[in-house]
Amino acid sequence: MPFQRPARRHYLKDLFVDTNTVGLKSTGRNVLYIRGSRGDSNLKSIPVSELVLDELDEMDTHAVWLALERLSGQIEKHILAISTPTVPKWGIHKLYLTSTQEHFCFQCPHCSRWTELTWPDCVEIIGESVNDPRCHESYLKCKECKHRLEQEAKPEFLAGGQWQVTEPNVSVEEARGFYINQLYSSTVTPGELVIAYHRGLGDEAANTEFHNSKLGSPFIGEGAQVTDEMLDNCVRGHTTNDPRPQIGGDRLITMGADQGKTGYISVVDWTFDQHPGSDINAAAIGKLLWFGKFLEDGWDYVGDLMRELQVLACVVDADPNINDARRFAKRFHGYVWLTRYRRGQSAKEIAIQEEEKAITFGATTVGPAVKASTREVLILAVRPSREPKAIDNQRLEA
Ligand SMILES: [Zn+2]
Repeated sequence: MPFQRPARRHYLKDLFVDTNTVGLKSTGRNVLYIRGSRGDSNLKSIPVSELVLDELDEMDTHAVWLALERLSGQIEKHILAISTPTVPKWGIHKLYLTSTQEHFCFQCPHCSRWTELTWPDCVEIIGESVNDPRCHESYLKCKECKHRLEQEAKPEFLAGGQWQVTEPNVSVEEARGFYINQLYSSTVTPGELVIAYHRGLGDEAANTEFHNSKLGSPFIGEGAQVTDEMLDNCVRGHTTNDPRPQIGGDRLITMGADQGKTGYISVVDWTFDQHPGSDINAAAIGKLLWFGKFLEDGWDYVGDLMRELQVLACVVDADPNINDARRFAKRFHGYVWLTRYRRGQSAKEIAIQEEEKAITFGATTVGPAVKASTREVLILAVRPSREPKAIDNQRLEA
């Protein structure tokens, strides 16, 4: 997975000496196109039979598909993807899992057994912390016989090495995949690896970097990982198909709607785990009652949901179709607020203009559909000035 980039660069540079223009190199017989992955037109226009995707995990997924599309129509096609891995089962690691998964093995100069360099079995860790000068005394060893392997002797004992398949169910004609880590590097010393390892203890970003770049392994730190337990804890005993709220009931229900070509809606039902007192924010618990999409001309559908779900406060985007939004607000007068997002207000602040039933949230990137699940919108639902509290079908249709 992680190849030595500078080495590869030099290899390509030496191979393609005849430079015509930037992004087009030629050896005379062959042509090499070099394209960035941002900007579709670059990737659409050239039919190719060989495709190299460099640093795959840093590429836009859409760009990868466009690049792969360039190969359709070619009888012989060949794709080479190279990357430092990042997230497990994603990007280069996902491809690797469908391949022969080859590891570079060599014969130990001491015990003659075939082996490979792995962390931590092949590193004698010396030094206790990043700043401990003894880290540089760390050395590589054979994990079979524990004999020391000299950094300087790598070119010799690795020279007779070979790639060995670890996934025999995939044929080498189908997809070959190669894994290598920096224990094999002739420029990275065991001491540097040990320092990077110490740096990763207690520092999640550094630990991720150590696993990805030094060990060539996909990795998600414990703090960043979504566990099955976390998912289970989020699943509650209700669904979006539960019986609808009673008309005129006293449930506090809010809705948010993002308008656009496709609009998004979320509806939240609020309860309090203690007496709300003067601060409803602290005591409120939101339960997602319903979520979904609506089309540009689907405001009637949103109206139906207002009634069906007995929404007490709804916030909708004022833009891009301000007229639609205004019409909708008029129909549900007293229950709908139009929102605009303005710069210059602190992130949590909402400004409410009572006459127009418009609210302005502080600069933020989330739309009303997400806002409906925030306590800021709940405040609108419990405003004491507004009566009656429930939406009555007949009254609304009048
Ligand atoms: Zn050995």
